[in-house]
Amino acid sequence: MSQPRSPEAPSPCTRPPATPAATAHKELRDDAFWQQLPAYRHLSAQEFHDHRFQSRNCVTNVAKLREVVGPLVPESFYQDVGQGVLRSTMSLRLSPYILSLIDWKSPAEDPLRLQFLPLASRWMPDHPELALDSLHEQKHSPVPGLTHRYADRALFLALDTCPVYCRFCTRSYAVGLDTLQVEKLHFGASSERWEQAFSYIASRPELEDIVVSGGDVYNLRPEQLEHIGNTLLDLEHIRRLRFATKGPAVMPQKLVGDQEWVGAFLRVVERSRQLHKAVALHTHFNHPNEITAITRQGLDFLAEQGVVVRNQCVLQRGVNDRAETMQLLVKRLSFLNVQPYYVFVHDMVKGVEELRTTLQQAMDLEKQVRGTTAGFHVPTFVLDTKGGGGKRDVHSYEYYDREEGIAVFTSPTVMPGTQFLYFDPVHTLSSPVQRRWAEEGERAAMIRTALDRAASRPRRN
Ligand SMILES: *Cc1c(COP(=O)(O)O)cnc(C)c1O
Ligand code: SF4
Repeated sequence: MSQPRSPEAPSPCTRPPATPAATAHKELRDDAFWQQLPAYRHLSAQEFHDHRFQSRNCVTNVAKLREVVGPLVPESFYQDVGQGVLRSTMSLRLSPYILSLIDWKSPAEDPLRLQFLPLASRWMPDHPELALDSLHEQKHSPVPGLTHRYADRALFLALDTCPVYCRFCTRSYAVGLDTLQVEKLHFGASSERWEQAFSYIASRPELEDIVVSGGDVYNLRPEQLEHIGNTLLDLEHIRRLRFATKGPAVMPQKLVGDQEWVGAFLRVVERSRQLHKAVALHTHFNHPNEITAITRQGLDFLAEQGVVVRNQCVLQRGVNDRAETMQLLVKRLSFLNVQPYYVFVHDMVKGVEELRTTLQQAMDLEKQVRGTTAGFHVPTFVLDTKGGGGKRDVHSYEYYDREEGIAVFTSPTVMPGTQFLYFDPVHTLSSPVQRRWAEEGERAAMIRTALDRAASRPRRN
């Protein structure tokens, strides 16, 4: 029952004054944060923020990591990383920028460390139902490196390298160097393969929208970027292009300093305008700490040029699964004119089980984010279905058994009549259920029951 209101009480339509948390998204780091690292201690802002310095000094092995970080962490940490690398599906690659933003006083818990440096001591066994190309991108590929899943849009993997390598990469089957765990399919930047992709796209008038990804378009040479952009814009039926890159999150210096690359991109954007088409940049920020004053410089420049920038984020346990973190990320991106477009529930990929959350956690988080800022800046929380059904709103499951950690989705526009499964991480389930997952027969029975229930009754949970 509500209390009767006394006349002195503040009017209910007056909000209390803002707390510092309400403006925290505007506070961007502008200190010499890289000087915490012994190898960068002597570097001026000008030297550190040189994009050539950033790309030439990436850390790609444990010896180099030790050289840069030195005595800030004990030797056991380097051994832990070394062991982690042996188990990882992705090769090691971190930019000096990202390395410097890790809190080296407690690296184990740091949200940037978690994304880029594996620690064997944190390793958890993979879910038993897990596969390497969980999204079946290759099944829907008419040409190597081109996935045509949705009727009107396609995903073009222009190359297979990135400015950094993320431990959780969904395309670990192709991206980066071979590792002990994976011998990769390679989609190098080859004009012959590109021509095949272009002629396929030209032959399909229903295609309107091409996602140019990889790998990462940051690693394309300016003339390659412009060639891809112009060739696709020249096709009359293509109306929209998106260039996907993690670059602004891990090496924002390039947006500020690499005039050739940025110039090539801006020419493609300008040309799309003249043709009444749309070209956007899709970034991949996962944590508010990735955004500093130098990021702002880069994104402000894109804003001045009228570039549309959207962000796709991957939900990860310990990185961005807390409401305050996701709220801060969304507000900080919005502040810099980046539209938070998607938050992806972590795909079922190998070797990073510690980073996955449950579907329920994604839904809970969505509830905490919606309402914090303008509706057009609130990301849609989606799950990319295992098996090629495409992206689905997390709330749209047909069936979800939280105890067994099984969700069933359908995708009427992509693969009508097919059911798609998502599995919560086994370590989040009760011990009796964990034991059932360990047994092949039990496992099959649980999955069969979930699929039957999803098919035979209207959604009720
Ligand atoms: C994500 C994706 C797209 C683009 O989908 P949107 O929902 O429009 O962002 C296109 N093709 C494939 C294969 C994809 O994975
Ligand atoms: S930048 Fe993207 S494609 Fe490259 S490793 Fe990271 S998630 Fe994978």
